[in-house]
Amino acid sequence: MVHQEMRSFGHEQVTHFVDEETGLEAIAAIHDTTLGPALGGTRLLPYDSHKAALRDVMRLSRAMTFKAAASDLDLGGGKAVIVADPSAKTPEMMRAYGRAIDRLGGHYITSVDVNTGVPDMDLLAEETDHVVGTSTGLGDPSPITARGVFAGLRAAVESVYGSPDLTDLTVTVQGVGKVGRGLTELLVDHGAQVTVSDMDTDAVTSVADEYGLETVAPENVYSTDCDVFAPCAVGGVINDDTIPQLECDIVAGAANNILEERRHATVLRERGILYAPDYVLNAGGLITVAAEHRGDSREDARQDAIAIGDRIRLLIDRAEAAGTTVLEAADEYARERIETSTNRVTPMAD
Ligand code: NAD
Repeated sequence: MVHQEMRSFGHEQVTHFVDEETGLEAIAAIHDTTLGPALGGTRLLPYDSHKAALRDVMRLSRAMTFKAAASDLDLGGGKAVIVADPSAKTPEMMRAYGRAIDRLGGHYITSVDVNTGVPDMDLLAEETDHVVGTSTGLGDPSPITARGVFAGLRAAVESVYGSPDLTDLTVTVQGVGKVGRGLTELLVDHGAQVTVSDMDTDAVTSVADEYGLETVAPENVYSTDCDVFAPCAVGGVINDDTIPQLECDIVAGAANNILEERRHATVLRERGILYAPDYVLNAGGLITVAAEHRGDSREDARQDAIAIGDRIRLLIDRAEAAGTTVLEAADEYARERIETSTNRVTPMAD
């Protein structure tokens, strides 16, 4: 099964780690290192089966290749999963995992993800140099992610309405967590009329009160009339059920895997809605850990995140010229970077 998946996804290396003493079971997947070492977080989840963990890590690591390449980073794509219940996580297990990562010799660099945080990265750092997102690093990337999403959203607005001016533009933000709240603040500062929505009533009330905003119930968020819908909560929210409800011109947000399926980018285009690809918009997190890895400052990362606006402009132009979705233009841009890289190992002639 692994061989089949490796071939179909094009992975370079998939490594399974077991440490019986600490109960560690982990899989690290290195998808492509043409542009540089594979960087991607470690997710800790109680997967139902080894097969489910493997599928997740293969899919996520491949997505990281595209995210890094489309973000003009000299990094490859990788990801790792630890198969465990979060309550079973121990410092010993994380140190054993750090030693396992170290054995990959720097081809894979890890960081935080679902159920792993800065204290875990500090434990890993006791055993390996190939970790970012530690307490001595650049800190929480969320404000930089919000800055990048804002820059990309504004570029999409400029393309649709002919001006980047956000005054009186109506934006619905779904999910006002770390990124959604930061995005809301930037939008309000630039004169947009923001409506917020969240499953967590305390979170949504707190943001609405702070900025004097309207709120909308989670079940009515898709049908809210607005210029921009900004999903900043969970994935899969743009699907066959929600697309017919949308009353917006642009979908641009921070959530990973906003589209339930790739084909939904085409369905949105057919409905005349511009979709700015999530993985280009929300690359601020990766940009921050990449800056940390290079030894750059938080301000360098912030500037790189602002450049997401220029990238979205370019991709929209390319999509218009080719008559495709912006998602296809982004994938094509990433592929071009990898294929034209001078690091690329080309097969030797006989
Ligand atoms: P978060 O956990 O801080 O906030 C998510 C918010 O969404 C929470 O307030 C939660 O109550 C709300 N929510 C969850 N399900 C919802 C639903 N169905 N409807 C309405 N609200 C819902 O997360 P975050 O760090 O702000 O990240 C938000 C999204 O952006 C995630 O998809 C994440 O993967 C993605 N992302 C985050 C970063 C980052 O730097 N934090 C980077 C890249 C991508």
